Amino acid sequence: MKKIAILGSTGSIGTQTLEVAEENGDLEIVSLAAGSNVEKLEAQIRKFRPKLAAVWSEESALELQRRVKDLDVKVVSGMEGLVEVCTCPEAEIVVTAIVGMIGIIPTIEAMKAGKDIALANKETLVTAGHMIIPLAKEKGVRLLPVDSEHSAIFQCLQGENRGQLKKILLTASGGPFRGKKLEELRNIRVEDALKHPNWAMGRKITIDSSTLVNKGLEMMEAKWLFGVEPKDIQIVVQPKSIIHSMVEFVDGAVMAQLGTPDMKLPIQYALYYPERRFLPGERLDFWKLTEITFEKPDMETFSGLRLAFDAAAAGGSMPTVYNAANERAVSKFLDRKIAYLEIPEIIGASMEAHKVTANPTVEQILETEQAVYEFIESRW
Ligand code: NDP
Repeated sequence: MKKIAILGSTGSIGTQTLEVAEENGDLEIVSLAAGSNVEKLEAQIRKFRPKLAAVWSEESALELQRRVKDLDVKVVSGMEGLVEVCTCPEAEIVVTAIVGMIGIIPTIEAMKAGKDIALANKETLVTAGHMIIPLAKEKGVRLLPVDSEHSAIFQCLQGENRGQLKKILLTASGGPFRGKKLEELRNIRVEDALKHPNWAMGRKITIDSSTLVNKGLEMMEAKWLFGVEPKDIQIVVQPKSIIHSMVEFVDGAVMAQLGTPDMKLPIQYALYYPERRFLPGERLDFWKLTEITFEKPDMETFSGLRLAFDAAAAGGSMPTVYNAANERAVSKFLDRKIAYLEIPEIIGASMEAHKVTANPTVEQILETEQAVYEFIESRW
């Protein structure tokens, strides 16, 4: 039995990870962490019987404790709790399915404890990639991508010489507003932006997909994971999300990974790597599909994507600013406090106000995050 820990077990990726575990029957869940959804976490604890569970606040921990007092499970809270969940001695692999920069410290601690990482939390690599990649080498742990695009690239590179990789073709669905111009985006409501054409995901990443900020974050994630420069990452809009990404080698050969849009495939691939397992579900039928179309992304209208390339070029602490500003702006948009187009506006203004720190430490990354939040609160 492979033993796994899940950070963010009640979310979209976390829930699907548990479904994969249930369908396979040979993964043991040793620890789980969630934010505040005590009810769902209780149900998961009853079903999967982990020895350790974490929630964020002490109040939620007391509530969870009360609910599961008949079971043999230790309940912990806060950052210490998250770290305990992902460093618990039994765990072999940690699924980082938590949303936001809060994932950085637990991921680093898990790696220091020698755990392999099934990485969903893209914010970790975007903001701290310069520390995470060398740490993975130093500790001899694997970073297994869960994001479908990065899993696709990873699958295409199996058995290949990484030195012969010429460029990455990162595919994008274009989101629900593909083809629209700036004027048409002015009055977008939360309900409109939460409708993704192909994928069912958490709220924050669904908004990020609609602004193309998600693609910007993925570009930075790919840069670190596969050691390529942003100029060698081309964004290709492929509206049906059938091609999950592609790679081009020095001889011009292009390899792609295709499949129906189902996050369970990359999750299962990361958990069992390098083995492939049967996965129930719909298969691609090329006779029904008939065509796959491609477009260039519109970085004028979706300036959040252009800003990601600017942030990657500036490097150091700038990707943290990009990410933190987006996190806060998206949360304000979801709370209906700002308009849709203020999301990229806030990111741009935060980046403009920032002076880059090269090679930031974790403390500097977290300080930068706070400074960005304060800047935004003082203006919006
Ligand atoms: P969700 O919003 O669906 O889930 C987030 C999870 O994080 C929940 O379990 C939530 O708990 C937990 N969480 C939030 N705050 C805390 C906290 N302070 N302490 C502990 N747990 C916390 O997100 P997704 O599953 O969509 O995304 C997770 C990550 O994976 C993101 O980084 C995203 O970018 C990435 N990703 C997601 C994909 C997808 O298809 N969904 C695809 C590729 C990457 P609670 O429910 O209690 O709030």
